[in-house]
Amino acid sequence: FSDQKQMRWQHMDVQRTFPKRTSFSHKGSHGKGAVVGGQLSMPGSVALTARAALRSGAGLLTVATVKDNIPVVANQCVEAMYHVWRDDQGILIDDSVSSLNHYDAIAIGMGMGRADESQKLTLRIVNEINRPVIVDADGLYHIKSDLEVVRARLAPLVITPHLGEMAMLTETTIAEIKQAPFSITKQFAQKYQVYVVLKGKFTIITTPRGEQVVTDTGNPGLAKGGSGDVLSGVILAFMMQHNERLPAIANACYLHGLTADMSITSGRHTETDLLASDVIDELSVAFRTIV
Ligand code: AMP
Ligand code: MG
Repeated sequence: FSDQKQMRWQHMDVQRTFPKRTSFSHKGSHGKGAVVGGQLSMPGSVALTARAALRSGAGLLTVATVKDNIPVVANQCVEAMYHVWRDDQGILIDDSVSSLNHYDAIAIGMGMGRADESQKLTLRIVNEINRPVIVDADGLYHIKSDLEVVRARLAPLVITPHLGEMAMLTETTIAEIKQAPFSITKQFAQKYQVYVVLKGKFTIITTPRGEQVVTDTGNPGLAKGGSGDVLSGVILAFMMQHNERLPAIANACYLHGLTADMSITSGRHTETDLLASDVIDELSVAFRTIV
């Protein structure tokens, strides 16, 4: 990157900031999280996010998805609780939005699709929920339709675009973002007062005040469907357990990439066969280097 020199978030930064589980902790001390998303054609995404969050220490986790999706997702993630956010006709069930204020953090958008109901739900959550919200994937497409709602929001909002999604949000091209990823992201983060996680070979994390750190863990084994869903789950869980936002997000990005790296150096996987679900199963290896 040529546009700016930024701080590299390193292993010692993770060690220094990673919260400890105290011996008196109970599931309530580690936060209640919710994952909102999924549709019948993409059932796996919310399951990946939920499992990644639970593997990352989340105390309690609820998945809100379309009704017919629940048996599929529950089969993949037995530790979570389930909630229907759309009925069979695709109608928004109203109280599902306000009930989200009871959670410590909410991740929305993964596998959600671009239907009007999904857009309405995303914008209502951004507008009405005063808990930290992480928006990914189709959720990013939905917030683009009304960025003023994003700007007006007071509670923390984290967006996790890859280069293509960042180009969509900023109405520019991937090539332009590659030229100046730091300044383009910083401008967007400050303008809309959001945390931006610009994902890629290097991941740039920017705060609403414009502070920036970079993580450089991870490898092309992550360049597969589902990797972003897993990262969102780790970010969700870390934000539930850490009240400082930047270290929570940076630790998630660093450890998600380190997990992928270590599952290859350990000889258990190669960049070819590593799957997003393998990353969830291997998180323990990376966590063991810091706790
Ligand atoms: P998504 O594109 O939403 O599925 O997210 C992909 C995830 O994998 C992000 O966390 C990226 O940073 C990571 N990733 C993808 N490709 C690479 C790569 N070549 N090197 C390192 N990390 C990568
Ligand atoms: Mg993605």
